This record gives sequence, structure tokens and C-alpha cells, in this order.
Amino acid sequence: MPQAHLSTEVAPGIYAIPVPIPYPFRYVNCYLLLPKPPSSGGAVLVDAALDTPEARGSLEAALKEHGLAWGDLEALLITHHHPDHYGLAGLIEAQGVPVYMLDVEKERGHVFWSEPERMHQAGMDHFRQHGITDGHLLGLEQEMAQTRSRVHPAQNPRTFREGERLELAGMSLRVVWTPGHADGHSMFLRETDGVLLAGDQILEKISPNIGRWAYAYPNPLAHYLRSLEKTAALGARLALPGHYRPIADIAGRVAELKAHHMERLGFLEGLLNDCPQTCWQLSLALFPGELTLAQRRFAWAETLAHLEYLVEAGRARWVNQDGVLGYLR
Ligand SMILES: [Zn+2]
Repeated sequence: MPQAHLSTEVAPGIYAIPVPIPYPFRYVNCYLLLPKPPSSGGAVLVDAALDTPEARGSLEAALKEHGLAWGDLEALLITHHHPDHYGLAGLIEAQGVPVYMLDVEKERGHVFWSEPERMHQAGMDHFRQHGITDGHLLGLEQEMAQTRSRVHPAQNPRTFREGERLELAGMSLRVVWTPGHADGHSMFLRETDGVLLAGDQILEKISPNIGRWAYAYPNPLAHYLRSLEKTAALGARLALPGHYRPIADIAGRVAELKAHHMERLGFLEGLLNDCPQTCWQLSLALFPGELTLAQRRFAWAETLAHLEYLVEAGRARWVNQDGVLGYLR
């Protein structure tokens, strides 16, 4: 039997590599950019998956398919610092490959991994303030410790800026900053043919998690909704996302994602009454059913992002009860 290809050319010179990850998505898409003759330049990888033996093996095999090893890469571009996109960055950098990310993401995302003690304490205080009980905190700490063991941040990340044009792999890629999913989330637009390396800004099957983490900008949902407008306004022809398949109808998907958040805001507003409820309690109602603790953490952070949006819009308020915030209509 012929072996299945480990990478697929999804746009000229851009190969999608589905890399297995132990999360519900099952795969993260890394993209390999190769110059098309007569263009010159080196090979570039976009995003670095999570460090597991399966992920390393899958990426190494996909590179080999193109006659490449880690050290042959000219650059590694990172869309955002989340573990499934940044895990192998430090190991790839150690092979002599420079790692690039948005300046904002270095300051506000990369630090999550490079300053673990500070981030851990702030995160725990934030969980407690929003009603997560000690029983759950222990499980979350264990889960986070495992994730940290699978993420190797770059030692010396280099940065690019919003709007900058990166000349790499014989392509010109415009950096598009889209805060929301992460403060320094960025996309790369190849203007010559409207191909957009979209990170987790828009996904085909699910709404990307918009969470209010301890270290995130306040009101990330407002940022994300503005970033959705910015994404649609690019007029790109094909989005290559971090998970699932390419998206041709970008404006259509943006409209669906906006409608989804408006509906969820309305539903959450309807759960509020005159009796203060914590974000944790509200997240159980907004996301009912069986979820793993890790999924519960995302549900909680997403609920908090929506609560902040409602408060900011004057549709909800909160009271501080002995250090724990309760939300009211
Ligand atoms: Zn992702």
C-alpha cells in the first residue's frame, strides 16, 4: 500500500501538516512554507504543536517527506503561545532555527511559559476569586503541570510587529494582529493570492475559546469581536486554520461566530438574577453536561469573558463577597 502523505499542499507552496495532540481537537495544523522556483528562500514552519513523541514523529516525518530536517528551517513563526501551537518551539530553536512571534505575544503570551512561578500564583488567585473550589484547584494544578512539561518556550524569541511584511520562503506575508483568543494572536496574509494563515482566529467546526485568563487583556470578547471584523475586512480568499479544514467562506464563518457569541451573551444574561452567582456556578449552567476538568476550565474562562462583556455593556454587575465575585443582573 502506498503510504499516505504526511503533508498536503493546501495552497501553492503551503503544506498542511496535521499533528496529533492529546486534546479533543485531535490535531493541530502546522504549516510548512516552501519557496516555489524561481523564488528563493528557505523553508518555514508555522506553529510548533505540543511536545509528545507522536507530535515530534509526525513533524519530523513530514519534514523528511520534503527532504528536510529541523536545522534546515529558515524560521519558525508562531501564531500564538497556546500549548498546542508553541510546545516544540524551544527544541526547534535549539536546532538553530530562529523563532518569531508578534511583539505583543512575547510580552503577554510567551511569559506564561517563561515565568511559571509568577503566572501560577496569579492564575490560582484568579481561579479562587471566581469561585473555583480548592478540590478543583488541585486537579487543575496537576493538569497544568503536565501541560508545562510538554511546552518548551523559545529562549530568545524574535519579534515582528502588526502590519509588518515578512519576506520568507519566497513569499511576502503581512502580519495581522487579532487579539481575543490570545492577546498577541497573529495571522499571516499572503496578499498575492489572498491566502490567510489564520491560527485559531476562525475554525470550521467550533468557536475558538475566548477566555478571560489572569494574564489576559480585560474584556477579551470585545477584542475578539473587533478582530473578527478585521478578519472579514481582509477580503482573503482562503483561511488556513490551526485546527480542522481550510475555510473558503471567511465572511460567512465570521458572521456565524459573531451570531454564536451574541446568542451566548443573551443566554448568560438570562441566567442572572438578584442573587449573586459566581462565574464557576454560571459556567455549569452555560456549559451543562459531562466535561473533563480541563474542559471545565475552558468553559469557566469563556463564561468569565462573556460576563466581563456583559458588565462592560451595563447588562450585568458584580459584588465582592469576601474576595469572591458574584454576578447579578
Ligand atoms: Zn489551537
